[in-house]
Amino acid sequence: MKFPRLSLTALAATLLALGASGAATAQAYPTRVVNMVVPFTAGGPTDRVARDLAEAMRKTLGQQVIVENAGGAGGTIGVNKVAKAAPDGYTVLLMHIGYATAPSLYRKLPYDPLTDLVPVGGVVEVPMTLIARPNFPAANFKEFLNYVKSNKDKMNFANAGIGAASHLCGLLLMSNIQADFQTVPFKGTADAITALIGGQVDFLCDQTTNTTQQIKGGRVKAYGVTTRNRLPSLPDVPTLNEQGLTNFEVGVWHGMWVPKGTPKAIVDKLSASLQDALKDPTFHRNMTELGAEIMPEARTKPEGFGQYVRSEITRWAPVIKKAGEYAD
Ligand code: ASP
Repeated sequence: MKFPRLSLTALAATLLALGASGAATAQAYPTRVVNMVVPFTAGGPTDRVARDLAEAMRKTLGQQVIVENAGGAGGTIGVNKVAKAAPDGYTVLLMHIGYATAPSLYRKLPYDPLTDLVPVGGVVEVPMTLIARPNFPAANFKEFLNYVKSNKDKMNFANAGIGAASHLCGLLLMSNIQADFQTVPFKGTADAITALIGGQVDFLCDQTTNTTQQIKGGRVKAYGVTTRNRLPSLPDVPTLNEQGLTNFEVGVWHGMWVPKGTPKAIVDKLSASLQDALKDPTFHRNMTELGAEIMPEARTKPEGFGQYVRSEITRWAPVIKKAGEYAD
């Protein structure tokens, strides 16, 4: 069978037309709903940031931004889902620090965090809190330590799977206090905190975007925050630092990515919308009330965020290796 031969001019014209239609698509973007994938269950801290952000971004994108929860394997299932999605701007990822710790925790990831997704920008940094079931027999961190150390084999330490922020916090805690506990993984810490309130697990380290209301309502016991200074949103909760855990600071940064190959014009539109969302008064107020802080401006932009993520992947590798003997 003979194929018609395309002249060079016709080929150039076709390519030009394709390029122009790509540019037109990027210009018109978004013409339909944007899917924001959260790699943890609904109602948890990452989901909370995503839902508030989706609402703020809707205002400038002029389209609905729907949150899709794809929990499991410490967030890596959801990240992989976005890595494999069409690079058309209609699937975006909202993930956190786990994006940078997973490469050191998993022998093999189904995606390459450095090349399969491209950064849109950082969003917020959220402190963590060490909390326990409401009837946990310890009045402060010192008593907590004594109790967990002398009941090591009976303790259940919840997390959202290997690669989650709660997992990282747990690793750091266990290596700092030199104790190893049985860990119980959930698909997100929304489920973990429900189990904690119900007394099915003993303790958990989780973002303030999930724990602030529960601590204030007295539904869980709080033993410390992971920041250097106390939080204005939880002034009665001491820092772990002031209670002797001096080498222990964790801030859970969150950010947005899209699949590689997404047209630059679309990344720029998402980035501009993210910038506006970070200045949105409702988003700002909601985040501040929950102890979250907007990331420094340079890190909220694609290039600065990309650099930061790369530096975080490098920074956590030796820390995780050192704490590794306490890994699941
Ligand atoms: N806070 C969880 C974590 O451990 C994730 C979540 O449910 O949002 O990373």
